[in-house]
Amino acid sequence: MRRTKIVATVGPASDSAEVLLAMVRAGVDMFRLNLSHGTMDEHLVRLASVRSAAQVAGKVVAVLADLPGPKIRAGRFEGDGVQVTVGLRVKLVPGDEPSTAEVIQVDYPTLLHDLAVGDRVVLGDGDISMRVRSVDGYGAVAEMLTAGRLRGRPGVHVPSERSRLRAPTDEDLVLLAAMAAAGVDYAAVSFVRSAADITMARDAIGTKGPALIAKIETRAAMDDLAAIIEVADALMVARGDLGIECALEEVPHMQKQIIRSCVDAGVPVITATQMLESMITAAQPTRAEVSDVANAVFDGTDAVMLSGETAIGVDPVEVIRTMARIVERAEAEAQYKGWAQRLGRAQRKRDSAGELRVTQAVTHAGWAAAEEIGVSAIVCCTRSGLTARAMARYRPLARLVGASPDAGVMRRLALSWGVEPLRVAEYASTDELVWHAVEAVVRAKMAAVGDHVLVLAGDPKSTGGATDVMRVIRVS
Ligand code: PEP
Repeated sequence: MRRTKIVATVGPASDSAEVLLAMVRAGVDMFRLNLSHGTMDEHLVRLASVRSAAQVAGKVVAVLADLPGPKIRAGRFEGDGVQVTVGLRVKLVPGDEPSTAEVIQVDYPTLLHDLAVGDRVVLGDGDISMRVRSVDGYGAVAEMLTAGRLRGRPGVHVPSERSRLRAPTDEDLVLLAAMAAAGVDYAAVSFVRSAADITMARDAIGTKGPALIAKIETRAAMDDLAAIIEVADALMVARGDLGIECALEEVPHMQKQIIRSCVDAGVPVITATQMLESMITAAQPTRAEVSDVANAVFDGTDAVMLSGETAIGVDPVEVIRTMARIVERAEAEAQYKGWAQRLGRAQRKRDSAGELRVTQAVTHAGWAAAEEIGVSAIVCCTRSGLTARAMARYRPLARLVGASPDAGVMRRLALSWGVEPLRVAEYASTDELVWHAVEAVVRAKMAAVGDHVLVLAGDPKSTGGATDVMRVIRVS
């Protein structure tokens, strides 16, 4: 029973009905549509294909729309591009004309106001970087720190704390509205710098829209982490851009800090980028990649993510099988019990305010009772998903069922560590709800005769009420 969830990006290598179905069967819990590539029509077709693959497989699978965020690009390097060497001095100027080895055009009008002497500017995926040596009204002179070839229109990364580009962009908000209308379960906001960026996205779509994931890929976001955790529905450790913006050797420590803060707060967290990168072309991952995935599990991540490996890789299904095997093996070694004992009851403010503190206290008591009794399953009856997420935070040994009448809540729970979403009907009383939930768990073969099952529930008639009932039932 794998507890850490797998997120896979859909792309040309994986968007056929057969491959998607095989990927679901191999273990994908959430598919990511990367809105930086492709058209809206393509994304909508992929969304429909994922929904039908999940239905055929009889599995609850979520869909994430990943918004592109602000992108600054260099003017085109014509033909085969230009070779740059370490120490070469180039001029950066705002504009969209073609770039040369001497003058690089950047489509960012306030470039010369926002760059300062000493800044590191990075081109492409981080392969080529330069240090700004002087800036005046005509251009910024920068010295190459790395050698390489510049082709096409590479992305340009200026330090995010001074960039004036807002995230989400106007284009992001248009895409977000379209994907919300199409019914995606999650949307990810790229290049978030503060909690206000997530609030802006939320205000644009209202409370009924998809859950929002804050991609942590700027230093500014690291500085506002606590506030971002308070407003976002989940976080992503976006190691690709984080490793461009910050020194590479900082990234593992930021990963640990983000994951730990998210688990403390009961907020799901995804570890992303280059997890099995070599499998884009190879049949096997490297030893270092296998260790990286295992270490993300030891860090306590809710989910691990695949990007190019499944979007454009040679064998997306084998990538999922490989990821699942590494994760399962790592989970057998993970110290979840010690982790849970360290956690207090208090979670982030918005999940423990007012009556919700009852939910948090009952969930904590439920976790302790489940461990002491040695139950086979913990069943969290949940309307919003909160009780199941609050329980997932303790990383319990028993299987963890998120029972809900709401298909959208079930799909969102597919991202949370260990939660197995299960559909239950609407019931008039807590007694009926508990009884039918246990019956559904037994029918789904998640518990057998003689097993103890611990159920957490609230009054189904109250809206926004707390989880205030704990029952331990011996299946007979
Ligand atoms: C990342 O930078 O790690 C990331 C996931 O973002 P992108 O969508 O730019 O790949």
